[in-house]
Amino acid sequence: MKLLEVTDLQVHFPVERGWFRKPIEFVKAVDGVNLELAPGETLGLVGESGCGKSTLGRALVRLVNPTAGRIRFNGIDLLTLEGKALRQQRRKLQMIFQDPASALDPRLTIESIVGEALEIHQIVRGRKARRERIGQLLTDVGLHPDHRNRYPHEFSGGQRQRIGIARALAVEPRFIVCDEPVSALDVSVQAQVVNLLHDLQEQRGLAYLFIAHDLAVVEHFSHRIAVMYLGNIIETGSARSVTRLPRHPYTQALISAVPALDPLTRRTRIVLGGDVPSPIHPPKGCPFHPRCPLAESRCRYEPPVPREILPQHWVSCHLAK
Ligand code: SF4
Repeated sequence: MKLLEVTDLQVHFPVERGWFRKPIEFVKAVDGVNLELAPGETLGLVGESGCGKSTLGRALVRLVNPTAGRIRFNGIDLLTLEGKALRQQRRKLQMIFQDPASALDPRLTIESIVGEALEIHQIVRGRKARRERIGQLLTDVGLHPDHRNRYPHEFSGGQRQRIGIARALAVEPRFIVCDEPVSALDVSVQAQVVNLLHDLQEQRGLAYLFIAHDLAVVEHFSHRIAVMYLGNIIETGSARSVTRLPRHPYTQALISAVPALDPLTRRTRIVLGGDVPSPIHPPKGCPFHPRCPLAESRCRYEPPVPREILPQHWVSCHLAK
């Protein structure tokens, strides 16, 4: 059974002007996304800055409200829930943020930060059980239980990200959106945090949406990869298939920028011209056509639909084979 099924999800933000703040246009940050995730699976989500990755992640955990579409989590339609029923489900969907420094309240001790969710969701009762649970969570993420009395500024960037992970784990989630969790960290620390996330997944059967602009990071950590461009998923498949046999010209350009680990493999860098178009007025037809080196006339008016080019490998491009 699928843990998460997302159907035609849209998140449009109004651009308001005038005295009465009337919406005159909409930023189509997420514009018709379909994806699914199994328990214990990692889906890597890649794409340039501003393509809608973070907005999609926030919509999945209901930090922003979708404009349209459906999110089924464990068979339950999340967008129809309200009040207590929504809170009960939301607890199972958590998020780890890019910048651990700004994601933790500097005025609170680690015990307060990690313990807050335990209280809200009444996961433990009594001070002793709460202290023990927080100590265990800190141990689980590679910190010492005595760290509970310290403040965020007393920790390094990597340790702060571990605290963010402990806070997310406190409510026993089944799905975590990891929004560029290592991009703000030193390269030497990045692998430690990625390994921790991997170990926690094995121990707890967690599913991850792992957002990154760096394909090299997601390539080794994800079971499947989805490539996002201008609010749409344009290619998805197993991590191996997408990175070894990319079929969409945009994915091919992204991969050409990743240094090959094998010194005998030569990659020719594909440099894309132009900027990403505005998500307020996305191009008609294929959204990638103004930058695509292969574009032909029908690409300007006919939107490509996803096709299964290889087993479980889907591509939205008229020319993909
Ligand atoms: Fe390029 Fe056309 Fe394929 Fe879009 S549909 S990626 S413009 S070739």
